[in-house]
Amino acid sequence: MNHPQSFKGACIVRVALPVPLRRLFDYRCAGEPPAPGARVRVPFGSGQRVGLAVEVTNSTALAPAQLKSITAILDESSLLDAELLATARWAANYWQGSLGDALFSALPAALRDGRSLPGRRVDGWQISSAGSTALNQGRAPRGATTALLTALAAGSLQADTARALPPAQRAALNRLRNLGWIEPLAEASTIDLAAHGGPPLTRAQQSALGMLLGQSNHFAVTLLEGVTGSGKTEVYLGRMREVLSRNRQVLMLVPEIGLVAQAAQRIQERLGVRVDILHSGLSDGLRLEAWLRARDGTARVLLGTRSAIFTPLPRGGLIVIDEEHDASYKQQDGFRYHARDLALKRAQAIDIPVLLGSATPSLESLHNVDRGRYAHVRLAERANARPPPRVELIDLRRIPARQGLSSPLIEALADTFAHGEQALVFRNRRGYAPVLTCAQCGWHADCPHCQRPLTWHRAVGRLECHLCARLEPAPSACPSCGSGALQPQGHGTERLEEALAERFPSVPLLRVDRETTRTRAAQSTLDVRLPNYGPALLVGTQMLAKGHDLPRLTLVAITSVDEGLYSVDFRAPERLAQLVVQVAGRAGRGERPGRVLLQTRHPDHPLLSRLLAGGYGALARELMEERRAAQLPPFAHHVLLRAESIREPSLFAFLDAARALLPSDTRITMAGPMPSPLPKRGLKWRGQLLLAASERGALHRMLSPWVQALEALPQARGVHWSVDVDPLDVN
Ligand code: ADP
Ligand code: ZN
Ligand code: ZN
Repeated sequence: MNHPQSFKGACIVRVALPVPLRRLFDYRCAGEPPAPGARVRVPFGSGQRVGLAVEVTNSTALAPAQLKSITAILDESSLLDAELLATARWAANYWQGSLGDALFSALPAALRDGRSLPGRRVDGWQISSAGSTALNQGRAPRGATTALLTALAAGSLQADTARALPPAQRAALNRLRNLGWIEPLAEASTIDLAAHGGPPLTRAQQSALGMLLGQSNHFAVTLLEGVTGSGKTEVYLGRMREVLSRNRQVLMLVPEIGLVAQAAQRIQERLGVRVDILHSGLSDGLRLEAWLRARDGTARVLLGTRSAIFTPLPRGGLIVIDEEHDASYKQQDGFRYHARDLALKRAQAIDIPVLLGSATPSLESLHNVDRGRYAHVRLAERANARPPPRVELIDLRRIPARQGLSSPLIEALADTFAHGEQALVFRNRRGYAPVLTCAQCGWHADCPHCQRPLTWHRAVGRLECHLCARLEPAPSACPSCGSGALQPQGHGTERLEEALAERFPSVPLLRVDRETTRTRAAQSTLDVRLPNYGPALLVGTQMLAKGHDLPRLTLVAITSVDEGLYSVDFRAPERLAQLVVQVAGRAGRGERPGRVLLQTRHPDHPLLSRLLAGGYGALARELMEERRAAQLPPFAHHVLLRAESIREPSLFAFLDAARALLPSDTRITMAGPMPSPLPKRGLKWRGQLLLAASERGALHRMLSPWVQALEALPQARGVHWSVDVDPLDVN
């Protein structure tokens, strides 16, 4: 072990790099040290990397010969404000990521490679509330800074005038900007909070909004549970209007890129405010622009998907998480954070309210309501007073289906189209058929690596493994007996599309799944492509399930719910119920009532009967009791160590060693090492070790040292591993 070395006079900069190693890297700095939060370019491995300076000290554990120097300091001041720096630190520690990964998640892609921070064109400058306070308390440094601040307190400074200032005053302006004592002139002209239009609120909406407006402007979490079509958006808009009128920023997250355009348009129209959008489908330049506008306080409403949770909010006033139950808020690789949970942390740090909305709240959030941590407001009925859609089961044991479609389903579709209405057929499986078998000898097409059936994609003539993405040409005859009697088993969206197009040749049909959207530029074209009037048919996977408001849609059919009924994942019932309710919620949002058909071979399954009898709320209560009895989340906290390796023995040697490293603690239980539910993917064997604790503190205290120790394990060589805190699936 090296002892910390002191370097008289020289400074050591500790740098966070976007690499999975959970440590900081020390560099020597010859001249003026970088500000913490500023980017630096440093030698790393055989090349150069951009990192973020985290702290400046005068000691390091590195030997002088190993200590390299910073190549360049890229920013004059911190890119991230104190709140984001602290939140990123917290997030790295909570989800056991590297600080570099967490900090770089908070930077727009355009800045990650070291490009210089572009100046933002602003109309001018005005004193901020922090600036007024500083001035009143006499905290401003003497001289040019105070003089300028005093001048700004009397009136704003136009950009042209600012550019013409003499150097000393321009330096003072920069100092004031860095202190946050001045801010860009608000775009007052573009905001028209009085204009709204929109429907008069229902009584339920009024009372929900009244409750929210009655809250203080400090940290508080409210779960807005409103059935699909209950008009949650109107409640968000009402709450946002109040926040905007106080000149504060709103950050709103939606689960999917495809939902952003619709939400942005509605906010823009109704609040008369520009909406700045942040998601991975935008160009780096546009995202940077929105980020800069957020960072200097110009942007009023920020709207985006998961990663937008890292947007700077110097004037934050409210965070809204729509469809809070959605699993896409959890990042499933790399830095595995959960945007909803991070939103809570940020709101706490900024001290502002959070609004979580859903028709099907997560059990985690309902549990927090039960514990008194969240306030709970409900919208129990649809805003247009339409009845909720009628849900019916079709028993596939009695009524056979061809190509995935039973005759009652076909009849219901025909009836819908005859009334000039639209329908949605949902199947969470893409491709033509999930299995291809030989009728002669029983051969079936399996992935040689994953040992699971290959999906037949008929149109492209290929077999595809949906686990490892392996592709093979589809055989025309059985590779085992040579017979030509190859038969598809089961059905995917491609097969449904074919069967439905054949049955209803004159009805416009649109298939939406990963294959079809890949070829389309943006998913928002979905709304454009479907005719607003007359019969139309949508076929697709869960990409269809979310949010799209199609007024002429009166029939929703789910061709099979059975995979979700028998799963090893304890969250499967919650997921299935959410999915069914969300898909069903697409039906009958307009004038005509909706109808929902579920095909199943298990019509007596308790999950289905409870859901049909009591709806999501009642089912969620029962699932909650089951989780409590079994001591599963949210009544316990899980951490999953996943590992994979080409060599099965290495995998388990690593997991055994990982288990041996855990301190014995009666509050923590362990399951494993064991093979994953998908024990092989591609060439890699997969295994896991699950840690559970009823108390989060005990688990988290041992986590960091354990993960550090895992990084140093000799058995980790040749093993790819990751730690998932609060995992959302068991795979
Ligand atoms: P949710 O997000 O709760 O599913 P939305 O906010 O999308 O519901 O609203 C569903 C539909 O009801 C939309 O078409 C919306 O315009 C309409 N709507 C919302 N509030 C009202 C209201 N107070 N009166 C009439 N229609 C309303
Ligand atoms: Zn055969
Ligand atoms: Zn495979």
